[in-house]
Amino acid sequence: MSQHLASDATPPVPIRWPPQVRAAACLTFDMDAEAPILTTDMSAISRMTPMSHQSYGPLVGVPRIVGMLKRHDIKATFFIPGYSAHRYPDVVRAIADAGHEIAHHSYFHENTIGMDEKTEAAMIDLGLRALHDVAGIRPDGYRAPMWELNYHTPKLLAERGFRYDSSLMDSDHPYVLAVDGAVGAAAAQLVEVPVSWGLDDWEQYAYLPGLTGSGLIESPAKALEMWTLELEAMHRIGAAFVLCCHPFLSGRPSRVEALERLIERMKSLDGLWITTVGEVARHTASLQLAARSYPRPIVPADAYWVARPPEGTLEA
Ligand SMILES: [Zn+2]
Repeated sequence: MSQHLASDATPPVPIRWPPQVRAAACLTFDMDAEAPILTTDMSAISRMTPMSHQSYGPLVGVPRIVGMLKRHDIKATFFIPGYSAHRYPDVVRAIADAGHEIAHHSYFHENTIGMDEKTEAAMIDLGLRALHDVAGIRPDGYRAPMWELNYHTPKLLAERGFRYDSSLMDSDHPYVLAVDGAVGAAAAQLVEVPVSWGLDDWEQYAYLPGLTGSGLIESPAKALEMWTLELEAMHRIGAAFVLCCHPFLSGRPSRVEALERLIERMKSLDGLWITTVGEVARHTASLQLAARSYPRPIVPADAYWVARPPEGTLEA
């Protein structure tokens, strides 16, 4: 009986990079703006100060970050909720005009935990339409709000022709994610370019009274130290370093300077490919790797005393 409980996921392995490349680094910016705060607490829509804190991202942070990236000749990936694209269409177009990748990040930064398949499909379609209407973009990539994928999400992405997702956390290396049950999938395969909470600026910098954060705001020097250590270690093991920053947080002056120092360190590392998530996904897809599956855990049928698990997760 207990053998049914064993995970059959295969451990991820390093991939083969293009010639002269030892590892990759991607700078990603989630231009969330007001959306995640409103979906946390809609009453915040009447709070002028939190709304101004969020609008700082597209209005001040994004132009500053785009200017900094231009000075360093680096292309980044911007994940943008459809609602934020509708709110700041000129900013989205300016990011695209500067040559950066624009990817999908939900419509309203919805809480997707427990979201049923039909609702999530509609949310993804709304986000697709918004990016198309605002900037004529059909994104290759998706990142779930709060990185919360459901087990049915990969299928929804494959059916819509997405080439990659960047939300999962079980690997340091990109891989091909097995997709079950996709109907008429336009994408031949779905690549996963994994992330981790230690490489997200929200935990370092975010504080809005009553909405997010504990009140502790870290020094950019500490964030730079953490991210540099991870960058150097990821470079040594030939992995893909994916940093996730939010323009309303990392767009502040000293934090952009910290990002610049990180970029200078990146440029000093031998064979580090500084590129977009889309490029990493495209390269990974070209390797014809076997897909990794990551099935949902199941629990023993007699474990009802733990909690009543959801349907389909009890051992048969
Ligand atoms: Zn986000």
